[in-house]
Amino acid sequence: MIYSCLHTHTELCDGNGTVEDYCKLAHEKRFVSLGFSAHAPITKKTSLMSDWHLPDGSFDKYCFLVRTAQKKWKDALDVYLGLEIDYIKDYIGPADDDIQALGLDFIIGSVHCLLPSNTSIDWTEKFMQQKKLLCVDGSEEEFQLLITHGWNSDVFALVESYWEAVIAMCKRGKFDILGHCDLIKRNNADDKYFSTKDPRYLRYAEKLACVLADSSMPIVAEVNTGGMNRGKTKEPYPSLDILKIFRKKNIPVTINADAHFPAHLGGNYDTARRALLEAGYTYFMLYEGRKNGKALWSKSQL
Ligand SMILES: [Zn+2]
Ligand SMILES: [Zn+2]
Repeated sequence: MIYSCLHTHTELCDGNGTVEDYCKLAHEKRFVSLGFSAHAPITKKTSLMSDWHLPDGSFDKYCFLVRTAQKKWKDALDVYLGLEIDYIKDYIGPADDDIQALGLDFIIGSVHCLLPSNTSIDWTEKFMQQKKLLCVDGSEEEFQLLITHGWNSDVFALVESYWEAVIAMCKRGKFDILGHCDLIKRNNADDKYFSTKDPRYLRYAEKLACVLADSSMPIVAEVNTGGMNRGKTKEPYPSLDILKIFRKKNIPVTINADAHFPAHLGGNYDTARRALLEAGYTYFMLYEGRKNGKALWSKSQL
């Protein structure tokens, strides 16, 4: 199988290692391409505070370093400049004009943070005054806070809000890769909080597959081994059940490590490959750059 990874985080946001460290190791591991996808700066645009997004002041440096590496490595490795854009309703999303105007090679659209609709409880006082983001993939304590304070202890209501956010982001479109679409399971080892086999849960995946299938600009779903690479999940995102749903709708897929260390590159790709084969896929998509604003993808044998 050909190796590539478009989902990486360097020391400039919440990852480790430099752009050059990643390029060197990707080349050593015989990758054909490598994309950088820092968490897009968020504070200046939304006034939400975060310690894991690229600081606003580092954005130019990030672009410069990746574009420099792109030139330096051009004969040995295809390097691409991208961003992982958060979708937070009414705050930020991949389809925003300012994001589209950045001239990136590719965009990953992801949902990590949810803002509760119920602000009558002490949520506002406790969190929103500090404008601190709570994420579904944060610590388990953070996840429990989301359930209890944000969703009145109704776990499934939180799960529904998550899926609705992913679906809303995909309906707005204008991004290339759907990041870790069932990230909501990150703190749900052994179905501790909700069942990922629940028909109501899987119906959201079906709804998502329909939206992806109807998208005018193709959105490629990633099989993301980041949860496994960081010892947080026993399987990639998304689950085999969801991959089977995607397969039925012919949703294109790619494989990414969501690397936060250079050593994560290619991590658990064998598991991702096996899951895709079991779901009925025979190939995955390889990103080949942009032409006239359009992303180019080729099919690669699993
Ligand atoms: Zn992410
Ligand atoms: Zn990521």
